[in-house]
Amino acid sequence: MYRSTWASPIAVLLRTLFLLLVLGAISCESEGGLDVDSSAPVRFPLDSWSVSQHFGVWNNSAGGYHLAEDARASGGTRVYAMADGVVGGIFAAPDVQGYGAVMMIEHEIGGEFVTSLYGHVSARRGFPVAEGEAVTKGQLIAYVADDDEDGGPWLPHLHFGIRKGRYDIDAQICGLWLYVGYTRACEGVSHEEHCASWHDPTNFIRSHGG
Ligand SMILES: [Zn+2]
Repeated sequence: MYRSTWASPIAVLLRTLFLLLVLGAISCESEGGLDVDSSAPVRFPLDSWSVSQHFGVWNNSAGGYHLAEDARASGGTRVYAMADGVVGGIFAAPDVQGYGAVMMIEHEIGGEFVTSLYGHVSARRGFPVAEGEAVTKGQLIAYVADDDEDGGPWLPHLHFGIRKGRYDIDAQICGLWLYVGYTRACEGVSHEEHCASWHDPTNFIRSHGG
């Protein structure tokens, strides 16, 4: 009798704790995981999407608005093409500063040309695709750079931007490369106008069914 009167409430308590742990684990997992609709023309470029810096937020140290979303990911995480397209450019330090390595892919989606940008990817691990190569949605295109590789105090992450328009290696805005990560203002161009030449990545992916 002594055992059963104590064992029963303890068993109920343990079962409850176990259920809470299981439910907690499920909700944590679903927070970062993505439901991929394979019929959509677009997808997020990582298998999970945990944003550490949102699109369009002001960044004091950069002195501009963030033109992409930063997604947390460890070094070596696989990066996939967000849609069918053609690899425009692949650049690595020291040719580009701040990104480590960066890749741009041109897409035509629903009659609109856009250029996706994948920054803080790894040159050391190599690129599974080359400039000028046609890629398909979900194709492995790069790996996230390791912490010691992309030259900054930040943790490994993917900087994912979607610029309006075709890929243009020579185009500049405010005297800077078109594919910079933060807005600049100059004569005739405000921070807000510069920001308007990019899409909010999550909004774009979601509005196209991804
Ligand atoms: Zn960023």
